[in-house]
Amino acid sequence: MTPPTVAVVGGGQLARMMAAPATALGLHLRVLVESGDGSAAQAVVDAPVGEAGDVDAVLALVDGADVLTFEHEHVPGPVLAAVAARGVPVHPGPDALVHAQDKVVMRRRLTELGVPCPRWAPVADLADLEAFRGADGGRAVVKTARGGYDGKGVRVVDAGAVPGDVVDWCAAAAAGTGPALLAEELVPFTRELAVLVARTPSGATAVWPVVESVQRDGVCAEVVAPAPGLDPATAAEAERVARTVADGLGVTGVLAVELFEVADPDGGAPRVLVNELAMRPHNSGHWTIDGSVTSQFEQHLRAVLDLPLGDVAPVARWTVMANVLGSALDDPTEALARVLGADPGARVHLYGKAVRPGRKLGHVTVSGDDLDDVRARARTAAALLRGEDGGTA
Ligand code: ADP
Repeated sequence: MTPPTVAVVGGGQLARMMAAPATALGLHLRVLVESGDGSAAQAVVDAPVGEAGDVDAVLALVDGADVLTFEHEHVPGPVLAAVAARGVPVHPGPDALVHAQDKVVMRRRLTELGVPCPRWAPVADLADLEAFRGADGGRAVVKTARGGYDGKGVRVVDAGAVPGDVVDWCAAAAAGTGPALLAEELVPFTRELAVLVARTPSGATAVWPVVESVQRDGVCAEVVAPAPGLDPATAAEAERVARTVADGLGVTGVLAVELFEVADPDGGAPRVLVNELAMRPHNSGHWTIDGSVTSQFEQHLRAVLDLPLGDVAPVARWTVMANVLGSALDDPTEALARVLGADPGARVHLYGKAVRPGRKLGHVTVSGDDLDDVRARARTAAALLRGEDGGTA
């Protein structure tokens, strides 16, 4: 008996959270992990160690596999091409994935598709940045096209002189020794939203309710599903954008579209602008494990195998997901008895990762009818896992 085999590049918590639904569906999961004791390696039996950029390691991974997929976007194009040459399907495919790897490519294509984005321009040198800011030296956001995550490749340039590190970025880009850059208008958003869609190779799509994602220091701290008080017209527009991007880019698997909500100056429904894309399960969708009929992890497996998609209906009126970012404990499992005893309804997910300041170590999900109650309970549980006594996140 040979069950369908899904090969995954990357051994962090996203691959780890694919293990439970793979087991439930009777699928075989094989994960290329960075180290034998990492997050996914602890949960997946078939977990060879290797680098995403090592073509031999990835070819060995896909030997006998039905599909190759990813938990991160950092797989070099030539490695993907080598896998495709072996006849193993790659989902999302390289032509789609490049839009999650390179923000200039992404902005260019979304602009072509008519998808609303912040005003933007590629930046080849400091002169380009100054031209973008205009004669009055306005504010702007400068980003590296590749390699950024959790806000690390993003700088806000305020009115006045360009800060030294951004001058250095521009010099490196101009000399070809650093990543390509782009500039964006500094969007006066009211909050950040995210919409998750799954798409199969056959073109079927399913969109979860739009969520609010609360960022602290450039990192997602909390997700509220559905986004509270969201105007129905804005929700419909966000859903339309998600489907347009998924279909237009030919995405397969789960796609997360991060959005800025912007007030309409004429008093109409708020608008949405696309910030960025992730082509894999995403932190903004962790709530679906406990808060939706079908989780993003199960849906990703279904989608990449071209199986029928699952129901994306929420199982409760509200679900709040709070991340456990860093901990004063040696290991957050030290607080397990306390947190489970304090709130039997809290769903705790820990990733088996070593504690480092600010590191995503796990998350807690709470569902229910009363948003304030659900949010307070999720925050309290996450705080206990961070080694804090109080209930404030
Ligand atoms: P990363 O790829 O590192 O996650 P993002 O492009 O998502 O970077 O940006 C990180 C954060 O910076 C966003 O969550 C948002 O808060 C802020 N940001 C990014 N782009 C803009 C923009 N054009 N206007 C205003 N804020 C922005």
